[in-house]
Amino acid sequence: MNNLSKSSQLFDRSKKVTPGGVHSPVRAFQGVGGTPPFIDSASGATLTDVDGNRYLDFCMSWGPLILGHQDPDIASAAIAAISKGCSFGTAEASSLALAELITGQIPWVEKVRFVNSGTEAVMSAIRVARGATGRNKILKFDGCYHGHSDAMLVQAGSGLTEMATPNSAGVPAETTRNTLVAPLNDIQAVETIFTAHGTDIAAVIIEPVPANNGLLLQRSDYLDKLIAITRSHGALVIFDEVITGFRLAFGGAAEVFGMEPDLVTYGKIIGGGFPVGAYGGRAELLDQVAPNGPVYQAGTLSGNPVTMSAGLAAVSKLLHENPYKQLAERTAQLAQNIEAIAREESDIPVTVQAQGSLFWIIYGEITSNDGAVRIPEQIPAAHKDYFRQSFHTLLNNGIYMAPSAFEVGFLSTAHSSEQMENYLGAFGHAIRELSA
Ligand code: PMP
Repeated sequence: MNNLSKSSQLFDRSKKVTPGGVHSPVRAFQGVGGTPPFIDSASGATLTDVDGNRYLDFCMSWGPLILGHQDPDIASAAIAAISKGCSFGTAEASSLALAELITGQIPWVEKVRFVNSGTEAVMSAIRVARGATGRNKILKFDGCYHGHSDAMLVQAGSGLTEMATPNSAGVPAETTRNTLVAPLNDIQAVETIFTAHGTDIAAVIIEPVPANNGLLLQRSDYLDKLIAITRSHGALVIFDEVITGFRLAFGGAAEVFGMEPDLVTYGKIIGGGFPVGAYGGRAELLDQVAPNGPVYQAGTLSGNPVTMSAGLAAVSKLLHENPYKQLAERTAQLAQNIEAIAREESDIPVTVQAQGSLFWIIYGEITSNDGAVRIPEQIPAAHKDYFRQSFHTLLNNGIYMAPSAFEVGFLSTAHSSEQMENYLGAFGHAIRELSA
C-alpha cells in the first residue's frame, strides 16, 4: 500500500475550505473511494505525490499533455513569456501566431477566437450558431459532455420525448428548454427530431469521438449522415474537439474522418497545460462575434500571452514531429496487450476501445450486436465495480488512471516502452486479483 499520510492530511484540510476538497469533482476520488494523492511535481509520464510516491500517469491532466509533463520546449516558451509579463489585456502577437498556425493548417478554420476553457468555447460557439441562424434550439447527444454551461448540463428526458431536463441543481428548466437530446449511433432518432423541430434547430453539437462517458466510438457513416441531415435543415454542425483536437491528428477527428464542421471547439492541448479554449470556423460565422458582429463574447485573460506561448510551442512541436501515427500504433498495441493479458490470466471479459492515443478499458461482457460500446447503455453492468477494484490495485502498483470508470486513458509521447511494460505488469496483477 502506498503511504498517503501527507495527502490524507492535506485532503482533510482541503475538505474544510473547498467543496469535496477539490476544484473539479472527479479529482475527489468519489467514483473509486479512498484518498486522492496530492501531486507535488510531474515530469514526462510520471507524477510524484507529496509523500514521495511515484505514479505512471495515464490521465495526463485530462488530455492537454500529449507531449508529457514538463515538455522542455513548452516550459521554456512559458518561462520566456512570463519574463515579459503575465498578462497584458491588449492586442499582442503570441495569440496571433497561434491563430495563424491553426488557421493556416486547418483550412476550414478560417478564424479562431481564444477563451479560457472548453466550457466557454462551447458556450460561445453555441451563441454564434444561434446568432448566425436566428434559431434557438441545440441538439446534443446522450453520452457527450460539452462542459458545464447551463444549456449543456442536461440529460435526455423521459422515454418518448427528446426534450432535455437539467442534470444539475441550479439549472432552471427554462435554460435547457432549447436543448434537445438524441441517443448516439441512432440516425433515425436524429431524423425524427429534425422532422419535429427542424426549423428551430440552430446547431447540432457532437464529440465526433465521444470521450467523456467512456470512449463511445461512432461510425464515420453515422457522422456523415448526421452532417447531411443537419445541413439539409439549415442547421450548423459543431464538432466539440476539446479532447480530440490536435490529439487524434493535427486537425483532430475532423481530419481523421475527412469532415468539415461549420464550427469547432478546442481546448486542452492548445494551451500546453495552461487554461484555454477556442472556437473557430468559417470567417462568415466568426465575424458574427463582437466587435465585428452582434454576438457578444469577451474575456479578461483570453489570449493570455503565457498560455498562448505555451500553446504555440505545443502545437508547433506537434506539427513538426507529427507523432500521431506512432501514438496510435502504440496505443493499439497497448490495447491488444491488455486484452491478451486479461484473456490469459482471468475469466473476466476485457475489451479495450481505442482511437488515436485515447483508450478505454471495458470490464465485463459487451452484448451489443457488433461487440462495440457506442452508447452509454451498452456499458456492461459489471464494468464500474471491476474498474473500481482494479483502480486501487493499479494505484498501489504505481499506476495513475483517471479516477472514474467512465474516463478515458491518454497516451503521450513521453510514455516510454519500459513504462508501458511496467503498466502491463501491474495490469496483469490487477486482473489476477479481480478474478481471484
Ligand atoms: N468539451 C469536451 C469534449 C470536453 O472533454 C470538456 C472537458 N473535458 C469540455 C468540453 C469542457 O472543457 P473545460 O473542462 O476546459 O471547461
